[in-house]
Amino acid sequence: MNQEERVVLEHRGYMKQAIEIACQNLQRPFGALLVDSREGEVIASAVNRSYRNPVAHSELEVIHKAVELNAGDVAWQSTVLYVTAEPCPMCMAGILWTGIPKVVYGSSMRTLKGLGYRHIAIQAKEMTAAATGGLICELIGGVLETDCDALFAAAMKLERKSKGTTDSGSTDHWGASES
Ligand SMILES: [Zn+2]
Repeated sequence: MNQEERVVLEHRGYMKQAIEIACQNLQRPFGALLVDSREGEVIASAVNRSYRNPVAHSELEVIHKAVELNAGDVAWQSTVLYVTAEPCPMCMAGILWTGIPKVVYGSSMRTLKGLGYRHIAIQAKEMTAAATGGLICELIGGVLETDCDALFAAAMKLERKSKGTTDSGSTDHWGASES
């Protein structure tokens, strides 16, 4: 196995864990896992909790958790963030301000939009391109994408069922108030 294959396998392994975390909230299966890339150790994990707090997206939750668990002493420059979907602009800004140098995600914003998720149409790559002053983050999308897409498609079905609708109206998975 060459280095590249090893990296792909490693990403898939952590993404599997992010998916497991996402399954803790099947209605909003956004799961995040922060890993120390030096030791491969998981620093913190989190799932979307927007049912309690509209801005409690998994990416911001995992950053807050990592700070709490490590008394603010996190070597952000040595971390990789794994998340089941492409970060929204709010989370991407948080990631950039934190200094996390790499984000690996599953589903794309375009896919979520296609499924009917509400979103703010600024892609993660547009956010990184707009950042200055040494705020750099590498983005790797499409890791276990089919698995992540299936999770979000199932969540959307669940949402429509609970609302008793079959239309393709957007839901509030990415932020607004709980229905
Ligand atoms: Zn977000």
